[in-house]
Amino acid sequence: MTNQTTFLDRLFDAGLLIDTGVDGLYGRSGQFEDVISAFERLIDRFGGADGAEAIRFPPGMNRAYFETSGYMKSFPQLAGTVHSFCGNELDHMSLLKCMDADEDWSKEQKITDIVLTPAACYPLYPTIAKRGAIAAKGALFDLQSYCFRHEPSKDPARQQLFRMREYVCMGTQDHVTEFRQTWMDRGLKMMEAVGLAVEIDVANDPFFGRAGKMLANNQRDQNLKFELLIPITSTSNPTACMSFNYHQDAFGAKWGLNLEDGSVAHTACVGFGLERIALALFHHHGLDVNTWPEPVRKALWG
Ligand code: AMP
Ligand code: ZN
Repeated sequence: MTNQTTFLDRLFDAGLLIDTGVDGLYGRSGQFEDVISAFERLIDRFGGADGAEAIRFPPGMNRAYFETSGYMKSFPQLAGTVHSFCGNELDHMSLLKCMDADEDWSKEQKITDIVLTPAACYPLYPTIAKRGAIAAKGALFDLQSYCFRHEPSKDPARQQLFRMREYVCMGTQDHVTEFRQTWMDRGLKMMEAVGLAVEIDVANDPFFGRAGKMLANNQRDQNLKFELLIPITSTSNPTACMSFNYHQDAFGAKWGLNLEDGSVAHTACVGFGLERIALALFHHHGLDVNTWPEPVRKALWG
């Protein structure tokens, strides 16, 4: 058995994650959720004074926005679209017949106006663009959403539906790159406070196909993405638990996000993988939070 399967089985046995029969789709226990809530309060303690505007979107987004975002160009393999039955009574009868016969019943399932949110910040850019120009001092947002990515795996740290807490900054290049650096420093301090050994390294997104390789190399060469890595199921291949992304003016140009002086806004986002952080804590400190080191418990629960 691999380390990943062993850890997943231990989490199931301890009741922290609940098996649904689908890899990467799990229930969570109250204890697991309590760790996530405590860690989110720690995030608030580090970031709260910045005065970010909190917005919560549901885990589905407007399909038109999703199409404009270009997600299908870069990550078609990860996307999850919502389909619904749109047929008549006859179609319904044939659907039920197919189900009875264990045949494909999805023929009459038609795409709806909703796509599962792939990253917490995706619904934000068009929403803010609609408000008009961004103040010269920039804008800061606090988001949290369940996100979907079609990447079934036995690795408990690679889920299909997981939560991302994000801060998103819009402004000048200097402003948003400083924001990103601030959170890299804070990320290191936060993980130290909860007793996790980490490193930060340059990274790339899993762009699809051969053209995607070039995009990934470009992203690395320009230091556009960094990740905070924590060993969970492997020490040689540690898991990205936070991401620090600088989009230059790409999202600003795409969505028409302008500053008051008419220049295109630069944007950056910082994402916490909440399940991954909880899993790192359970892996390093044990499956029973009562036995966690006192300083870690104090940092999380006061
Ligand atoms: P990304 O947009 O890929 O940089 O993701 C932001 C953060 O979400 C990452 O740093 C991870 O902590 C977390 N994350 C990404 N993919 C997954 C996944 N499949 N399961 C759990 N957490 C994830
Ligand atoms: Zn983001």
